[in-house]
Amino acid sequence: MSNVTQTFLAPGRIRLPAMPPLSLYVHFPWCVRKCPYCDFNSHEWKGEGDFPEDAYLDALRADIEVALPLVWSRKIHTIFIGGGTPSLLSAKGLDRLLSDIRALLPVDADAEITLEANPGTFEADKFRQFRQSGVNRLSIGVQSFNDRHLKSLGRIHDSGQARHAIEVASKVFDNFNLDLMFALPGQSLDECKVDVETALSFGSSHLSLYHLTLEPNTYFAKYPPPLPDDDTSADMQDWIHDRATAAGFERYEVSAYAKPHHRSKHNLNYWRFGDYLGIGAGAHGKLSFPERIIRQVRFKHPTTYIEQALKQKPVHEEHEIGTADLPFEFMLNALRLNEGFPVHSFLERTGLTMNAIEKPLLEAERRGLITRDHQHIAPTPLGQRFLNDLQGLFLKA
Ligand code: SF4
Repeated sequence: MSNVTQTFLAPGRIRLPAMPPLSLYVHFPWCVRKCPYCDFNSHEWKGEGDFPEDAYLDALRADIEVALPLVWSRKIHTIFIGGGTPSLLSAKGLDRLLSDIRALLPVDADAEITLEANPGTFEADKFRQFRQSGVNRLSIGVQSFNDRHLKSLGRIHDSGQARHAIEVASKVFDNFNLDLMFALPGQSLDECKVDVETALSFGSSHLSLYHLTLEPNTYFAKYPPPLPDDDTSADMQDWIHDRATAAGFERYEVSAYAKPHHRSKHNLNYWRFGDYLGIGAGAHGKLSFPERIIRQVRFKHPTTYIEQALKQKPVHEEHEIGTADLPFEFMLNALRLNEGFPVHSFLERTGLTMNAIEKPLLEAERRGLITRDHQHIAPTPLGQRFLNDLQGLFLKA
């Protein structure tokens, strides 16, 4: 047993009755161009020729090998290959990645395996091969069908390429998600409606509808574009909710809408405070042990990550979540789900009793932000609307 594993198995301050489900996140850190609103760990590939696919795949394999003792014998229920633009991987590269994962980790036979894909990287043959390699869910970063808005978002694709990508995807995948954003620079309510109607016309099983936000350290944060006012963006949000619901989608999380039986299992595991091993440049992970829960972050820059992973040292930061932080971390995720969570899952996932959150729960109930009985806790519509305030009540509960 390695020293690291021994440390994590030493007596701690909490007792988890069982290990939560385990997912795998794989980060791919390159994009054709950096979008001005993007705060993900994505880098424009500026080197000669293509990005270093083989070296990166070698690093990912080494990364899993290093992580093995921490997840020994635990099954992987879902895999999410995100980025960046992982659809830049070649068909051969993606096949090698999934083969390496299966060779090293016990992957559930019916695991949900999602790949993020951007229009502009779609070739029908390649996507057929991705499907054959085992990818069974595609998440397409469309963002808008309006050329003016795509341009203002700095996207490399136009509306025609977005439509083409979805047509290719729908022929190969019966389970696919479309990412769309609203409250875009200069967007009117009518333009937002056209985007959503267009997205609905493709018959996807899932829609992720995000409000554009100006994240710190992005180009947009430095040079803010003119955005719709709060009333207009609230109108957009309300209209989207009503229209998607009428089209047979259920809003089950802040930004996620699914057709029946098509919720994202991978994201649900995050929101239910499940475990995830995160490999790849800058990937975050959360892993449970019988008496502690830890978080890990991999080296962020792709070149450093490759070097470090090949030296069997891919982890940049690692810390145990303190007992004072666990209630907030659990609630930050669980309250995003409209259905809330069963009371017993708080003990199962944090190892703490409900006493740890009784005070803020009472306060949330008093303010009409949650409903609860002895079995279940859920945000009310008011709690969903003022989610940040609700979550904030559990800070250092
Ligand atoms: S394509 Fe996606 S990950 Fe890449 S820069 Fe744009 S928003 Fe970021």
